[in-house]
Amino acid sequence: MKTDSDVSPNRFFSVIMMGKTASLGLLFLPVAGIWVAWHERKILREGVPLSSQGMMDAAEVGVRHPEKIRVLQVRNIPVLNGRFIRALSKFWPEISTHTIGLCLRYGIYLRKGTASGRERELIAHECAHTAQYEASGGIVTFLVRYFSECIHYGYRSAPMEMEAVEQAGRISPSVNASK
Ligand SMILES: [Zn+2]
Repeated sequence: MKTDSDVSPNRFFSVIMMGKTASLGLLFLPVAGIWVAWHERKILREGVPLSSQGMMDAAEVGVRHPEKIRVLQVRNIPVLNGRFIRALSKFWPEISTHTIGLCLRYGIYLRKGTASGRERELIAHECAHTAQYEASGGIVTFLVRYFSECIHYGYRSAPMEMEAVEQAGRISPSVNASK
């Protein structure tokens, strides 16, 4: 049981900061939604459909429309251009210079080279996020859930992230790290 005496000044301060961070994160949502939609359109134009194996894996992790997915291999995932994206990466750690895969609903970015040999599990992981976008009903509703979980639980313990890791692990048991 928790009592008032458990609330130390430090704890109180961190709760206040958490609230502040959360509201700041939510302010980013409309812009983040536009950014995701813009990159999804680019990937849908320039990317390639999933292989037949990829389609089966996508269906296995719960994607309703695997045929809509396109994958675009890029030298660097274009996530760090500008102040907004740098700020966004604080709330969405999946966006970083170490990012090797990123799911933007039906558009999936894969970084060239780093995915070789792990491509199948990486794509399955990103497809699990596609399934979450579908289940959420849209880009912004996905982002609200995803950001809230990252802020509340931390990126690696966020239930949606853990679900994607677990789903990809079932496709390819060697996967044990999130992307
Ligand atoms: Zn992920």
